[in-house]
Amino acid sequence: MFNSLNTGAGQIARSAKAENDIQQQEIERLLMITEALWEFIKEGMNLTDEQLMDKINEIDLRDGDQDGKVAKKPIENCTQCDRPLLRNKPFCLYCGATVDRSAFER
Ligand SMILES: [Zn+2]
Repeated sequence: MFNSLNTGAGQIARSAKAENDIQQQEIERLLMITEALWEFIKEGMNLTDEQLMDKINEIDLRDGDQDGKVAKKPIENCTQCDRPLLRNKPFCLYCGATVDRSAFER
């Protein structure tokens, strides 16, 4: 009994570690892509690191908090029927109106 529980817990722990390893790899890949884009923008637009950091800080402050995160916006209402829109839906569930979303909305 104890062994089967122990084995189950061990499997869960291994699964969590595998998921964590995958997420860490994804973060590393995104950081590498970000670094490449940073260098292209810096060199292509003749910008300084300080100017790029200023832009990051400006985006960070859009929600009023300099916390390294862009806060989720409150749920908006449909421009056609004024009912609440669901996140990640490209249309209004009530009237079918198309919803224009920001490319970086999450
Ligand atoms: Zn609507």
